Amino acid sequence: MDNNDYNPEINGLWRRVWGLKSQPKVRNFLWQAVKNAIPTKSNLKRHKVMLEDCCEQCNAEVEDLVHALWSCSLLSSVWEQQSEWQFRMEVSFDMFRELVEYVVEKDGMHFGPAKPLSQSNKCNSWFGHSE
Ligand SMILES: [Zn+2]
Repeated sequence: MDNNDYNPEINGLWRRVWGLKSQPKVRNFLWQAVKNAIPTKSNLKRHKVMLEDCCEQCNAEVEDLVHALWSCSLLSSVWEQQSEWQFRMEVSFDMFRELVEYVVEKDGMHFGPAKPLSQSNKCNSWFGHSE
């Protein structure tokens, strides 16, 4: 195995994702996301399909998976409607699988170790800054 990416099978996340009570297509998408196999702009840029990876929604940050599905400021109105996602304002995730791990831990028995919101992943593209 010369896979230098994180291998989520190792820590049992696979079993937990597939044990979720949700539709198969949701679990499947979640698993692709955990493996970072979703073609975000960040991934496309890494594979040299695209030259820039700035989020087209907010034009402020790199569109990686966490940003596209979770932390983009344009998604605030979606996530803030439900109180169980309040931790979105308190915890940040570098990888989508960290978010999934956090949620399955939280729904299981305890809150996972939260880390403070870090300096976010600003993209310095030619779009310029919005502030
Ligand atoms: Zn965005």
